Amino acid sequence: MIQKNIRNFSIIAHIDHGKSTLADRLLEATGALTDREKSAQYLDKMELEQERGITIKAQSVRLNYRAKDGQDYTLNLIDTPGHVDFSYEVSRSLSACEGAMLVVDAAQGVEAQTLANVYMAIDQDLEIFAVLNKIDLPSAEPERIRAEVEEIVGIDTSDAILASAKEGIGIEAILEAIVQRVPAPKGNPDAPLKALTFDSWYDSYQGVVVLVRVFDGTIKKGEKIKLMATGGVYEVQKVGAFNPHPIQLSQLSSGDVGFIIAGIKVVEDAKVGDTITHLHNPAAEALPGYQEVNPMVFSGLYPVDAADYDNLRDALEKLRLNDAAFSFEPENSLALGFGFRCGFLGLLHMEIIQERLEREFGVNLITTAPTVVYKVTTTKGELLEVESANMLPEIQFIEQIEEPFVLASIHVPNEFVGPVLKLCIERRGIQREIKYLTANRVMVVYEMPLNEIVLDFFDRLKSISRGYASLDYEHLDFRISKLVRLNVLINGDVVDALSLIVHQDKAQHRGRDLVSKMKEFIPRQQYEVAIQAAIGNKVIARSTVKALRKDVTAKCYGGDITRKRKLLEKQKAGKKRMKQIGSVELPQEAFLAILKVK
Ligand code: GDP
Ligand code: MG
Repeated sequence: MIQKNIRNFSIIAHIDHGKSTLADRLLEATGALTDREKSAQYLDKMELEQERGITIKAQSVRLNYRAKDGQDYTLNLIDTPGHVDFSYEVSRSLSACEGAMLVVDAAQGVEAQTLANVYMAIDQDLEIFAVLNKIDLPSAEPERIRAEVEEIVGIDTSDAILASAKEGIGIEAILEAIVQRVPAPKGNPDAPLKALTFDSWYDSYQGVVVLVRVFDGTIKKGEKIKLMATGGVYEVQKVGAFNPHPIQLSQLSSGDVGFIIAGIKVVEDAKVGDTITHLHNPAAEALPGYQEVNPMVFSGLYPVDAADYDNLRDALEKLRLNDAAFSFEPENSLALGFGFRCGFLGLLHMEIIQERLEREFGVNLITTAPTVVYKVTTTKGELLEVESANMLPEIQFIEQIEEPFVLASIHVPNEFVGPVLKLCIERRGIQREIKYLTANRVMVVYEMPLNEIVLDFFDRLKSISRGYASLDYEHLDFRISKLVRLNVLINGDVVDALSLIVHQDKAQHRGRDLVSKMKEFIPRQQYEVAIQAAIGNKVIARSTVKALRKDVTAKCYGGDITRKRKLLEKQKAGKKRMKQIGSVELPQEAFLAILKVK
């Protein structure tokens, strides 16, 4: 396709505002879907995505459209992941485009996440036009939302398109807007190759499939290519595009979006943001914006049943094949046995992986409380990256601890501002800004420790705002904080699975909370069980489970021997699920109850 008839665009929308439905309508209207496919939402590939209504992996499709001007156009729709954890991937997808369509629910208005992504698009000089979706809803107020979008986002909305993806209204107007408003790509097909990798995934038949946007040059089957950031060299086996089914093409040229298959074994070797060039006659420099993505949130994953350990490892390896942002290594806990310490981009990423392990691989998991990465300087001057409380050196060897801070933007209706501010303060937030977006909508911006966000902040936010608040955050920096390791001890032995890194001011409260929860779940034993919470040697909370000699067969009156045997067997089976902490046996249920179990 000649460049002047190519349009590369993205859809920016808050979750549930109708991005996927609208994208499917565009596929339908351009004849890309068969009747059978029309019944299912095509663009949300994974079952999990469909159920949770989120888009996890970017997926791009090529649409052929004959516009009202009589010319044929190739419209490349580049889908973006819809969650804060994936903002780097979103930024790379957007940089593959010349334009973006901002979809806003005409009954809901602009949300925090939408705004973050629109600003990203504005930063990259994309042409942006607005679509007000769901105008079929009785509660839709397109005129009010039109003004709101203009005021908040700062783009001209006088020609915003009114649409209903559900009823198929406004679809042609959208296709025409893409042709007329999104600029054609500008690149030189004869210059040295520069192609941006903006997504990749593992396919068991073909190896890694890499989605690219070609900026300069031309790429063909049989050519030797080089990935500029990782240094990997490969031979191109296939190039093509998704329509939405894969079609093979003879080449991809400047302006084109499509896939490359080149015998790449793992997605880690085809990193998002990397630039592909030719091995011979390479580009002088890579495209801007490449970043290494590092896990920011960690948690321990343990099989509920120790026999599942190998299954769990196999499942983690499979997921890793397809997800370069996810990491894991074996970890051993006294309380929980053998498991893995896993790293994630953020909380949603963590939940997605946990859910897939359960659902697709059938492993029951115990997960420890999520932690962030701390930078610890020891008294000897060493710098450590600590991702779990158990890795933290003893208090006397620590010079300082730094924790990651984020800039959190929360959008909330007026009436809930009070509780939201209170929550942010509770979570050690530092206020940056409170701004009235409209008469009834407020944007609250806080600098906050990520540590305070990973612990149920989002759930709390939703509950105090009756579901109306939306949250977006970006990483700021690392700051020195007064953090301590909080241990729970059972008869003097540390229960490693329950150790936490907390702010000094919160240690007391958390300690008491853990001790009282533990007490609830530890049954009386032959001897007294002391439960303590401590920082170093200093006990800050304690409780005791009184001794009790329990003869389970006493109530059988010595009569029915089979019943007695059954009871003994039952007791033995129960024992198997006990975990030994020092001299005390604890039921696994105690951990299941305190840690998150899926
Ligand atoms: P996404 O999260 O932005 O991809 O949103 P979806 O496309 O999955 O849509 C979210 C929900 O809104 C789904 O239940 C859709 O059926 C519904 N929806 C999407 N577009 C419309 C519309 O134009 N009108 C109405 N009434 N519902 C819509
Ligand atoms: Mg979707």
